[in-house]
Order: sequence, then structure tokens, then C-alpha cells
Amino acid sequence: MLLNLTDILSNEGKTEEISVVYESGFFRSDQGQFKVLQNGPVILTLSNRGKGEMSVTGKGSLQFRTRCDRCLGPVDITVPICIDEVIGTEQIENPADADECPYLKGYQLDTEVLIGNEILINWPGKILCKEDCKGICAKCGKDLNQGDCGCDTFIPDPRMAVIKDIFNANKEV
Ligand SMILES: [Zn+2]
Ligand SMILES: [Zn+2]
Repeated sequence: MLLNLTDILSNEGKTEEISVVYESGFFRSDQGQFKVLQNGPVILTLSNRGKGEMSVTGKGSLQFRTRCDRCLGPVDITVPICIDEVIGTEQIENPADADECPYLKGYQLDTEVLIGNEILINWPGKILCKEDCKGICAKCGKDLNQGDCGCDTFIPDPRMAVIKDIFNANKEV
């Protein structure tokens, strides 16, 4: 959604509250494409605080369908949105600073880009279906949460066992 900022920026002391949603059906990042289960709302507060500056704050949360890092099973996550930005007329008029505020298109604020940045920042670094998820068998690919697969993962050489421990420790996500 594109919000026109001209009115607020030309009225000192003016505050506006607006409820927006994340309009895309999917969120895309370098980790993949995730279905949006709950697209908001995010309550944005735009406030002219004088000297050609306005603050943009926003609160809400979104829900996505993602997958477990260990077993790849589906996991639904909630990502909090907590926006706190300041926009000055200078940034708007000086396109050289455009990279700083990718959500600005002239005097319009692209809420999709603004919320998208926030999703990226607050995306959890580790996603597990449950704390003790056993993952999948490295040999046969079975989901070990559903029971043992019976694969022979026994390593007879004790030196190899040490290496295996290190390997498993590194593999921990
Ligand atoms: Zn899992
Ligand atoms: Zn197996």
C-alpha cells in the first residue's frame, strides 16, 4: 500500500493512525518463499514532529508457514513487527539517500517494503518444530520423530566416534 505523506509533512503536530496489512500472499527471502498465514494488522502511527521530520512507528505481528531446520516439517511462526523510523523531507527530496529508506517513493511510503524489512529483521534464526526435534536420518531420510528407522549408525572405531561427535556438534542448529 502506498501512503501519501504530503499532508502530514505539511501540517506540524499532525498525527495519523492507520491500520495496514502485508498484502503479498508470500514472503520471499534468501531462505525461500513462505506462505503468509496472518497478514496483520500493523498499526502505523505517522506523526509530524516539526522541522520537516516525521516519525513512523508501527506495531503488530504476522504469521508464516515455514519449516523445521532439522526435520523439514511444517512450522507456523509469529514474527513481531515493531517499526520505529524517522523520515525527513531532506531524505525525500535528495534521491542520493534513497538506499537509506527503500520504502520511500518520493512523498509516498510503500508499506509493503517497510513491513517486509521488519519481517526480515525479526525472522527467527533457528526454527524447530519442537525443542528436542530428532531430525531426519542422514542415511535413509526418515523423520526420526516418528520412530527409529533401524539404520546402522554405529561406528566401531573409537577415534571415529570422536570425529562423529564433533561432526554432530557442528551440525547442531
Ligand atoms: Zn522438526
Ligand atoms: Zn535411517
